[in-house]
Amino acid sequence: MTLAAVSRPPRMLFQPVGPCWVCGGTGLRPFHQCRFDFHEYAVQDPALDEYSGESVRLVRCDACGFSQPEKLPTLPRFFDRMYDQRWSEEWVENEFEASYKDFIFRTILRELDRRVPGRPRRLLDVGAHAGRFMHLAQQAGWEVEGIELNPRTAACAARRTGAPVHHVNAHTLVASGARFRAITLTDVLEHIPEPITLLQTIGRLLEPGGSIAVKVPCGRSQWYKERLLSVLIPSRRISLADNLVHVNHFTPRSLAMALKRAGFRDVLVRTAAPELPPRPSFLGRVASNASRIAVYTAARCPGAVHTPLALHLQAYASVGAVPAREDEAVR
Ligand SMILES: [Zn+2]
Repeated sequence: MTLAAVSRPPRMLFQPVGPCWVCGGTGLRPFHQCRFDFHEYAVQDPALDEYSGESVRLVRCDACGFSQPEKLPTLPRFFDRMYDQRWSEEWVENEFEASYKDFIFRTILRELDRRVPGRPRRLLDVGAHAGRFMHLAQQAGWEVEGIELNPRTAACAARRTGAPVHHVNAHTLVASGARFRAITLTDVLEHIPEPITLLQTIGRLLEPGGSIAVKVPCGRSQWYKERLLSVLIPSRRISLADNLVHVNHFTPRSLAMALKRAGFRDVLVRTAAPELPPRPSFLGRVASNASRIAVYTAARCPGAVHTPLALHLQAYASVGAVPAREDEAVR
C-alpha cells in the first residue's frame, strides 16, 4: 500500500449551500438539525447508506423567512437515488384509486377553471405520481400530460389515463417545444433545491397568459406543529425534513417572492386544502375529516394564511398577465 493511499483524505459527503435561494439574503440562522437514516437502502444503494448517521442543519433567512439546508450531499443524483423507491404494482394501483387527495385536486381544478377558461386547453402535471390528478383533470375537460420520474408510477399514470407521461425533467421538456395553458406542482417544489430555477423553467413551458398552481407545506407552520406535538407527547422527537426529504421550507411571503423572482405575475397565496386520509372506522374518518376541514376553514379567513393554522400553502400565478398589487399577493 502506498503512502498516498494511506493518507488519502476522506470523501467529502457535503458541500455548503450559499445565500438564501429565494431572496439572496446572507443572514441565515440555524434552527433545526435533520438526521439521515438510509439503512433501508443498504443493499439497493450502499453509497446512499454511507449518509446514515450524518445530519444537516436547516437555516432560516432573516430577510424573507424561507428556510433551506446549510449544506447538501455531494453524492451524484442524491435525491433521485432517495426517491428510487421500488413500490409494488398493487401499491401503485391503490395510489391511483385512492381519493385522499381529491379535495386538494378538485380545489386546484376549480381555480384553474376560473383562470384558464375556454377549450381546448392543455395541462401538465409535474410529479404526476400514479396519475390520479391527471385523471380528475381529464374529467374536468383538460387535455393532460404528466412528468413523472419514477418508472413504476409513471407507467401506471400513462396506462390509466392514456395520456403522455414524460420520463424527463421539466428542463428537457422545454427543449421539445411543448407548451401548456396550465401547469401544476402539488407536493413537488419542496423537494427541489434552488426552487427558482425550476419555476423559471415552468414559466417557459407555459403559453402567454397561462397559469401555474403550486402546493407546498408551510415550513413555519409545520415547525410549530412539530414543536406542539413534542410538548404534548414528550417521547416524540421533533422530526422535520429528516433525510432532507424537504429542502425548501416556504412561508406565504417567501413563496410569493419566489414566484415573482421567477417572472410570474398575478401571484396569489392561500391556505391549501387538506388531505382527507382514510381511517379504519367510519366514525374515526368523520371525526378526522371534520377536524381537518374545521382547521382549513379557519385558516381561509382573511389574514389567517400567516398563522400556524395554515399547514399547507396553495399558490397560483400567471405568465404575461397584468401584475397584481403587492398587497393582494398573499391572502
Ligand atoms: Zn431569503
